[in-house]
This record gives sequence, C-alpha cells and structure tokens, in this order.
Amino acid sequence: KFITFEGIDGAGKSSHIAGVCELLRSRGLTVVSTREPGGTPLGEKLRELLLHEPMHLETEAMLMFAARREHLAAVIEPALARGDWVVCDRFSDATYAYQGGGRGLDRHKLLDLEHWVHGHLQPDLTLLFDLPFAVARERIVLQTRELDRFEQERADFHERVRQAYLERAAASGQRMHVIDADRPREQIKKTVEEIVSSICR
Ligand code: C5P
Repeated sequence: KFITFEGIDGAGKSSHIAGVCELLRSRGLTVVSTREPGGTPLGEKLRELLLHEPMHLETEAMLMFAARREHLAAVIEPALARGDWVVCDRFSDATYAYQGGGRGLDRHKLLDLEHWVHGHLQPDLTLLFDLPFAVARERIVLQTRELDRFEQERADFHERVRQAYLERAAASGQRMHVIDADRPREQIKKTVEEIVSSICR
C-alpha cells in the first residue's frame, strides 16, 4: 500500500512519519520510507534547485513532476510491485496545493502533468496535517534553520496552500484524512495510528 503525508510547512508531519513506519514494521510489513521532492539521487539534486533557485512557476511545476517521474520509476513502483508498503513525505497533492493553490498555476496544466506521470497510480491513504499558518510558523521559527524559497513566502501564500489542501481533501472521497495538527503531539500520534491501523486489516 501507498501512504502519503501532506500539510503546510511546520505542520509537524515529518515527526510522525517515523512512528508510522515503526508501527507498520511491528506488524511484520516491509516499509520503504521516502520523500518528495527527492527520494532518488537525481530527485535530491532537483530538490536543491527547487528549494533555492528562483524560477518560473511552470518550470517549478514541471521539475516537481520530473522528480516524481524518476521517484516513481526508481523507488515507488518497484516497491509496490514487490508488495512493500511505501510511506512518502509529500506527493502530488503538494503540487496542487503549492503550485496550484499557492502560486496560482492553472489546475488543468497540473492535471495534464499528473496524467502523464502517474495517472494510473494514486496513494491508498493520505494524511493531511492541518493547522493555522501562525501556529505552523512559530514551530518553524523555533527550529532556527535557514528558510527555503517556499517557507520564505508570506502568510497569504501559506493560507492559500492550506485552503487548496482542504478543498482537495473534501473532494478526495475516502482517500484523504484531515488531521487537526494544532493539538498535543501524543493526541496527534494516537489519531495517526488509528487511521493507519484501519487500512492494515
Ligand atoms: O516537506 P518538505 O519541507 O521536505 O518540502 C520541501 C519544500 O518544498 C517545502 O517548503 C514545500 O513547501 C515545497 N514543496 C512545493 N511543492 C511540492 C512539494 C514541496 O512547493 N509539490
């Protein structure tokens, strides 16, 4: 099965990914844990460019999907074909949220790219970590690291990303689960484990 994690920067999803991998492994499942943009040597080079190099928004969207094509071919598709579980930190929902919602790129262009790159394959389950931008920003500031190109964007950009994520979740049927990430860590962990356990049966 293919599980993805999504949310605005600072939502805290990364810290729960390790927990989910541990949970799945404790049930005897083989898990491949990976991330986007990145996940392959070429993908990680594209990630560096995407996070730090100014570029046209269509270039940005196409590089996201180029990195994804590579990631699918080299990591995700072979893992799923072996019957492994794949846990991925961001996937195409992030492109709809950031390049679509945040930057305003026409969704039809993203749909075309998505069909080209992975029309046949969608995650089985997506956990969307949702919280107000102001709370997420406080968490990022506490990390005292250098902010990337997306994190440097203003509050209204992040609010648009958040709304785009929520709209996508509402239209996704059963696939996306919205998790209130503005709660104590232990409570979030419990919710995450319940949702993931429900697809293990
Ligand atoms: O989740 P992570 O911090 O590793 O993501 C790296 C950055 O890439 C984030 O700042 C995120 O906003 C951005 N991103 C994006 N579009 C995507 C995937 C990630 O703008 N499709």
